Amino acid sequence: MAFDRPDHYPFRDVETKWQRRWEESGLFRVTEEAGRPKYYCLEMFPYPSGRIHMGHVRNYAIGDVVTRYKRMRGSNVLHPMGWDAFGLPAENAAIEHGVHPAVWTYENIATMKAQMKKLGISYDWDREVATCDPEYYRWEQLIFIRMFERGLAYRKAGTVNWCPSCQTVLANEQVEAGRCWRCDSEVQLKEVEGWYFKITDYAEELLEWCDRLTGWPERVLTMQRNWIGRSEGAEFALPVVLPDGSRPDDLALPVFTTRPDTVFGMTFAVLAPEHPLVDRLVGGAAERAEVAGFRATVARETEIERLATDRPKQGLRLAARAVNPFTGEAIPLFLADYVLMGYGTGAIMAVPGEDQRDWDFALAHDLSIIETTARPPDWTGQAYVGDGVKINSGFLDGLTVAEAKRRAIDWLVGQGLGAGKVNYRLRDWGISRQRYWGAPIPIVYCPSCGTVPERPERLPVELPRDVQITGKGGSPLADVPSFVNTRCPRCDGPARRETDTMDTFVESSWYFVRFCSARYTRGMVDPASAAYWMPVNQYIGGIEHAILHLLYARFYTKVLRDMGLVKVDEPFQNLLTQGMVIKDGAKMSKSKGNVVDPDELIATYGADTARLFSLFAAPPEKDLDWSEQGVEGAFRFLNRVWRFVDAHREALAGPAGGPHGEALSDLGRGFRRTIHETIQRVTNDIEDRFHFNTAISAVHELVNALHAFAGESQDRVGQAERRALLREAVETVLLLLAPFAPHLADELWERLGHRESLLTRPWPVADLRALEREAVQVVVQVDGRVRTRLTVRPGTAEDTLTSQALADGKVLPWLRAREVERVVVVPGRLVNIVTRGAGGGA
Ligand SMILES: [Zn+2]
Ligand SMILES: [Zn+2]
Repeated sequence: MAFDRPDHYPFRDVETKWQRRWEESGLFRVTEEAGRPKYYCLEMFPYPSGRIHMGHVRNYAIGDVVTRYKRMRGSNVLHPMGWDAFGLPAENAAIEHGVHPAVWTYENIATMKAQMKKLGISYDWDREVATCDPEYYRWEQLIFIRMFERGLAYRKAGTVNWCPSCQTVLANEQVEAGRCWRCDSEVQLKEVEGWYFKITDYAEELLEWCDRLTGWPERVLTMQRNWIGRSEGAEFALPVVLPDGSRPDDLALPVFTTRPDTVFGMTFAVLAPEHPLVDRLVGGAAERAEVAGFRATVARETEIERLATDRPKQGLRLAARAVNPFTGEAIPLFLADYVLMGYGTGAIMAVPGEDQRDWDFALAHDLSIIETTARPPDWTGQAYVGDGVKINSGFLDGLTVAEAKRRAIDWLVGQGLGAGKVNYRLRDWGISRQRYWGAPIPIVYCPSCGTVPERPERLPVELPRDVQITGKGGSPLADVPSFVNTRCPRCDGPARRETDTMDTFVESSWYFVRFCSARYTRGMVDPASAAYWMPVNQYIGGIEHAILHLLYARFYTKVLRDMGLVKVDEPFQNLLTQGMVIKDGAKMSKSKGNVVDPDELIATYGADTARLFSLFAAPPEKDLDWSEQGVEGAFRFLNRVWRFVDAHREALAGPAGGPHGEALSDLGRGFRRTIHETIQRVTNDIEDRFHFNTAISAVHELVNALHAFAGESQDRVGQAERRALLREAVETVLLLLAPFAPHLADELWERLGHRESLLTRPWPVADLRALEREAVQVVVQVDGRVRTRLTVRPGTAEDTLTSQALADGKVLPWLRAREVERVVVVPGRLVNIVTRGAGGGA
């Protein structure tokens, strides 16, 4: 192997050689090994968009360092990779270029896999999965059926977020500031039937576990808690007085409030315009027409507009009235756009004194406002939401807000009118998509049996290959007769298949479970493998998944647990959310035109440089600023290591070993201490929160020290000692670099004469004796104040330290006329002399 340019090491040959060697040796293939600690490291698998980008490189480099490090530390490490392969871009490609989504997807997978292999990431490729493979999604369909049987998957009509451009339903989580998370179109509301997962059944548990996920960033947990949005309050019903003065017994409006203490301030009530009881409340033809007109106006508003706090609230007063059960008074009843059917009960008790939206609405419609909480003396605001003493509130007067809440609920329960209730912001997960490129929902509609799940032995329900994708209207599957027309799984009569496919977030909710036994054919996962590998010890991905993917994956894992497939409560023990890759002040993206192609980077500098740069330039959770100089710097460093080994071939030849400890020269002892201090620093930096950048800095410093020692030691140190220390230092550098720049490290390791791969070597352990210094400084305090410092040999005994301190010339004056009560010694660091009457404080 020769230098292909005189000024740099032959990284292309080195990287090709070791990637082949690693693949042939099967070193990254793992199986369950009882008695060996397991470690499961996972990077979020990518969508096969076509090319990997620098964000991917960073993500995978972080995961690979963790994997290789844990492996060297003795763990049995699972490190798999796959493809989140369903989704809309494949359909768009089909529309634009006439290429079948499957062809497009698998071509992209092949390209990206080749790119990943060039990075030398230590994946167990035997476990590769693509979620569009029927052998993958068949298990998702089976779990769907089990969920259907348990009532966890159900069909309902609902108002959904609709993207007019993607022509599909979006979950709330997929709407960002009123726009489609994928295409940025303005989202509309639409009434559609669809399938839902009952994630709300797990709301309480999902929330509780937020307090127990100590390995997750607090920021992510806060976002999850807010998304779940637990609120405690009361639910009760408001009786109704119809325009003709009658009070039907069977007609009441359920409301939920988190402020039952404010009920005496309820001066009106509001219904969502789409509330199903509206039709029964409306009187004559004139009012009916007015209501229809109002509903049409509201239907043109987006959900975001309706919930916005800074715009006027539209309202229509009905002739019917509601009754405040606490006062018995009939109060005005409105339809208003700021109340939505999808949240709570679709009806609210309005308390303008303590709610700003109600306050604004009351002013606009000339309604009375009753303050029920005493304001602070300097209060100048409008609605008051703070704490205080209840006023104008009948039997609640004089209580605090918290006391009044409890008392009001007790009263409702006592009267049989309502109850305390916990409410969540979290909605059930709408999973129906009117798309082709997704997993078919395994449901059949039979004219005589109704909604029937497919029989498990007939799974997978495969996507038909032959389909027209136009991007217009509903699901393309509805136009494929051979797919739609089927036989009922129960009565064998003619029946129709469900033509919606599942949200692609379903596939990514369990891929980490599939990786435990990716080729298992008797179920989603071999329970024994899942028991061994789960949970994922370290999960690594972007912060953009803080809510969507992570919440769904947590929910799905709990469902699988309740079905007995996995034993864990949570899928991801530790979560690292890596920062973005920034160039010229903006996130790298095609639209900004500031993309660096990893292929070019690898071609010019090699994979080791690409990896080292992306790990060195910033701590993993921070944004990484792209810099050409940074890349050059990483490249120069690797060349420097290479040249050193090359230039000292002779000195480095032969086995390690030589004088140690006392037999070493002063220069040698100092250098050996640097070697072992570096081992300690790098180990700590990786163990504690993955500070890879400072770990790499430490290796830089060791290489500097190595150069200095090689020069200085030529005349001052014996040959045997010099050889031994050079070799120890170089081997240490290579071992410490192995997780970061594995190709170069393995190549130089081999050049040192080692037969076995560096990958099978244990991580170095610092020799504690080498860390000892000739002398240490011990602080001497009298009654907590520093009086002097002693210079002593490390390991000096406690009583020696005590007598030296007590006899020290700088200490003696402070002990005159005082009696020593006790002496506290922290070996190697501190002697504290406590005198009687000094308060006894040490
Ligand atoms: Zn869209
Ligand atoms: Zn049937």
